[in-house]
Amino acid sequence: MSNFIPSLTLVSSAKALRKAEQLRVSNQNQFNAMIASRYDIEKHNDITADDRNQFDSFFLSKDRSLDDAIAIFKQVENKHARIVEKEVAKSPFNDFIEKHRGIGLKTFGRVWALIGDPTWNPHTDEPRLISHLWAYSGIGDPAIKKERGKKYKVNTNLGPALHNLIMPASQRLPAGSLDSYRPLYEAQKARYQGRVHNRPCAQCGTKSAEQQALQDEVAAAGITLLNDVSAGVGDPWKDGHINGAAIRYCKKQFLKDIYLYAQENA
Ligand SMILES: [Zn+2]
Repeated sequence: MSNFIPSLTLVSSAKALRKAEQLRVSNQNQFNAMIASRYDIEKHNDITADDRNQFDSFFLSKDRSLDDAIAIFKQVENKHARIVEKEVAKSPFNDFIEKHRGIGLKTFGRVWALIGDPTWNPHTDEPRLISHLWAYSGIGDPAIKKERGKKYKVNTNLGPALHNLIMPASQRLPAGSLDSYRPLYEAQKARYQGRVHNRPCAQCGTKSAEQQALQDEVAAAGITLLNDVSAGVGDPWKDGHINGAAIRYCKKQFLKDIYLYAQENA
């Protein structure tokens, strides 16, 4: 049996952590929306002191049940985060993490729990290719993504988990942080400078004041204009596009690195 299959404890705790996080964020949003609606209502209506006091006693007093719920979810998250960290620290991946600056035990564990053994496809019970691992993470070749059979299934939880791992390990580390993905990130950014689009790109689109006004006008009538503001074939990549491509490249390299690490240390 492979050493690189995450423990049941790790997988369960990573899942509990994700669920608690989702519940906390959704409660937080609900709470914020209620506070915002109070100010919005007050702005547009005459509110009596009674109205305000009643609202505040429900939502802003010491008896803030939503706030209490948020605190409890946070506790659940912290508890499972510690378990995830412990499980990863005693795993054979601990050496890999120690050699790569900016990768935390928790963020690594959350990715690993979703991937399983990087070299094995649990859905087809056969060896994985690196390209399959990329496709499973949603950053593969678009041609492979289209064949969404069992083999190339995309795990939609993996994208955000991978993003949370790679950002501190590449873009957010100080420049010159060797033993991290920062040099690769910089190299890729330099490589993509001056690239031009070979297909229209909405991300790099420009909106002139005229286009924006027209778009607002038709949007009011419920019509969405497509492609009118996209960058065209031959237009240069903007900074956001270059940055996104460099981050994506680092994600692919990270997945390749853990794949090869698992293969070499099996
Ligand atoms: Zn673009």
